[in-house]
Amino acid sequence: MISKTPELPKVLEHILSLAVDLNAADLHFIPDVEAQQVLVKARPRDERPLTELARWSWANYKTFCTHLERFCGLRVYQRLPDMAAVSVTLPSGSWAVQLESATNLSLAMRLTPSATQSPLRLDELGLDASDFAEAEHLCTMESGVICLAGSVGDGRDTFINACLLHPEVRRRDCVIIHPWPRVEVPNAEHFVLEGAGWGGDERLELADPALLAQSEALFERFPKVSADKLTRFVRRRAPEVLYLREVHSLEMVELCFEMARRGTLVFTTLHASDATSIPGRFGAMKLEPKALRNVQLVCRAQRRLARLCPHCRQPQALSPASLKAMGLPEDQDGFAPHRAVGCEQCNEGHKGWVLVQETHRPERRVLERALSVNNFRRLRPQALKDGLRTLRQHALERVANAEISMIEAMMKTPPR
Ligand SMILES: [Zn+2]
Repeated sequence: MISKTPELPKVLEHILSLAVDLNAADLHFIPDVEAQQVLVKARPRDERPLTELARWSWANYKTFCTHLERFCGLRVYQRLPDMAAVSVTLPSGSWAVQLESATNLSLAMRLTPSATQSPLRLDELGLDASDFAEAEHLCTMESGVICLAGSVGDGRDTFINACLLHPEVRRRDCVIIHPWPRVEVPNAEHFVLEGAGWGGDERLELADPALLAQSEALFERFPKVSADKLTRFVRRRAPEVLYLREVHSLEMVELCFEMARRGTLVFTTLHASDATSIPGRFGAMKLEPKALRNVQLVCRAQRRLARLCPHCRQPQALSPASLKAMGLPEDQDGFAPHRAVGCEQCNEGHKGWVLVQETHRPERRVLERALSVNNFRRLRPQALKDGLRTLRQHALERVANAEISMIEAMMKTPPR
């Protein structure tokens, strides 16, 4: 799965070492055709503005780009002494040829942090006050099943790891079972789940060599649990808090509910578009209604959206017609959307990210009935009637606060 590429050119390796010293999140190559030189800048991970690392002559940049040709369309990664891996994603196309004619050949590279980086806390996730309170509530639950829906890149693992760092959770005995652990949560006991036959999206995630390289060290270090012994292992170990990543079989779902009934607080994830679709996924796995007895189920869906850069965002006037086209009331007093612009301190108008979420706590009787007749169509209308704040509504709240752009909210959250 890892495609080891030939060594990167020395000049790139030098720049990467400087970037590592700076704890950079990404590297930018900004050509200035008039001056016939290229500025090499790095963005420190703490979101300080871009820092200049070097100025190259045009000739040097051309040589550099010619070397890059060999890696075009690939994700290249290189082990460095103080970093597990550096991932370089290059656009395809002939760089050497383009350099002759084009005027703006800027290039950016993402530097993936090492596996020794610690997980983020809840207060580092960009949650707003309401979501922070919601997360704190989840962390203080005695027992139950907390299931996070989303897709790769929605930050579900990041969110759950942050919950596991919460003082209320940390004081309890916690076990994490994950096919590819990427961070180590202090105070938790980690296991690697082997032979789980993971789903399609997960494979996509693993196909990223940088992520894979980060996980390798942890993967080797943590003890293994085989998929066919999972149930027996968890029953015997009986932790107070369990994080079982990605339930995709009836056995795993039943295990989550069984442990919750016995007093464990279970965190898990699955692929679903919104919170009210989660019970339907359980139904598709043929979960018996009786499995839900005496278990509190919390269904959460979340999306990770790009945060607008506060330095360059601009107010955006939206006509009543376009508001209507987006399904919003035409009269939007006090609603001041902003759009992305782009400046020296951000990435095309964006800097960091925010989470938006919806949380559904299905009533047990409603859920049991849905499972027994295998019909989940009424769950969402009922939840909306009961006051569910949807992903879209939460996103629009953050548009109103000028934290994200309207286009980001519309493109990344389902309409209702
Ligand atoms: Zn900016």
